[in-house]
Amino acid sequence: MTDLRPSAEAELVERFLDAAARGDLSRVSSMLSHVPSLIHQTGTGGWTALMFGARNGHYDVVKELLTRGCDGSSVNASFQTAYDIAKFWGHGHVSKLLGPTDTPKENYFGRETLDRLGLRRTDEEWLDAKRTAAETVFLLFSKLSPMVVGPSREQEAGRTDLQLCRLGHEAVKWLLQKPSTVLVFLGVEKRDPSSQTADEAPWEPPAWFAVGTDEDAAKLLEGGGGGGGGGGERRFFPRSGHKDLLRLSEDEAGVVAQARSVLAWHSRYSFCSTCGGATRPEEAGYKRRCVNAGCPSRQGVHNTCYPRVDPVVIMLVIHPDGDQCLLGRKKMFPSGMFSCLAGFVEPGETLEAAVRRETREESGVTVDLVQYVSCQPWPMPSSLMIGCVAVAVTTDIKVDKNEIEEARWFSRQQVMDSLLRGSHQVLMVPPSQTIAHQLIKHWIGMSANL
Ligand code: ZN
Ligand code: MG
Repeated sequence: MTDLRPSAEAELVERFLDAAARGDLSRVSSMLSHVPSLIHQTGTGGWTALMFGARNGHYDVVKELLTRGCDGSSVNASFQTAYDIAKFWGHGHVSKLLGPTDTPKENYFGRETLDRLGLRRTDEEWLDAKRTAAETVFLLFSKLSPMVVGPSREQEAGRTDLQLCRLGHEAVKWLLQKPSTVLVFLGVEKRDPSSQTADEAPWEPPAWFAVGTDEDAAKLLEGGGGGGGGGGERRFFPRSGHKDLLRLSEDEAGVVAQARSVLAWHSRYSFCSTCGGATRPEEAGYKRRCVNAGCPSRQGVHNTCYPRVDPVVIMLVIHPDGDQCLLGRKKMFPSGMFSCLAGFVEPGETLEAAVRRETREESGVTVDLVQYVSCQPWPMPSSLMIGCVAVAVTTDIKVDKNEIEEARWFSRQQVMDSLLRGSHQVLMVPPSQTIAHQLIKHWIGMSANL
């Protein structure tokens, strides 16, 4: 990113970028094998090797760079991605490699790695067999914190260095016998159909369960038994704050979103909301039935018996001039951080109406056009963040001090400086795991998948 690097290094980068520009695949590969960090280096005008490869239509080089983890979302000094460059120069086969793809946008916590197999939730025989099968995976949650393994230092969000402990039946057997333990069937592993060969025996995909308990964490850590995964220290997330939940891989974050939300529901809805009686889990953890035989909730289908989801609209409000966006900050935000406005959808309200009402209440700004962009499960405890962009028709700001401390219009340039250059003097946007970050990126015109 800087021109002040020592000359030997500068020369190396120059040769690497040149190899990519010429389409010299073997040279690019061998240089990367020796100096992997070259992949992120930029030359004049902020051009990466990927951009040079894309500029000259070198399919093999672009493919190699992407395979090696090159970040396709980085932009040059003119805010072009490698995709923009390939498209501009008419290299259709290369731009296809670089996306944007037609797959729906996926936010952190949104990945579905398990097949939920909802129809099996009432199949007691099948569930019983899965509960004791050797390959079955159990995830342990103590007071809604998952047991993880990984380094305990460097607590900042954004690191994806924590792994869920994958325990076997032996390790959790003692817990499953306790009446207070909640067991939730999460699903079975999916398999890429292309990886199966015709003569292979049918594959029984391993089942995953979440185990929820209020047992003392220290006792759980010592009694954990075998299983786990990777090296590092086993521990539970600290309960103060959810930052650690943002340090999982995308795959594991998706599983945690499901598990934590359902377990949180069990912990908050132990009593029947119709008669106040006790309830007990059913349907592999996806239902609670009232034990009171005369309770109306036992007749017919009632939403009080099923895990809840709370819809929240979160919106990036665009200035009528198209070149500024409205962001607000809550008191509890780190200093300098502003984010999208958001609020719960009320009963009997459309998403569009909720966006208009919340924006008006929180900022005094009136919006007209509302467009859905993407959504994100947010398992603290069980929200569904419904991401929209909305176009303002007024610009005067009057904040509701109970909800937010300050709201401001930020220019596209200010947003880009924060998002792409890491300059936080004026504005710090929320981390990339949040849908707010992705909505802001979406407005800037970048591929939110990357
Ligand atoms: Zn009841
Ligand atoms: Mg509100």
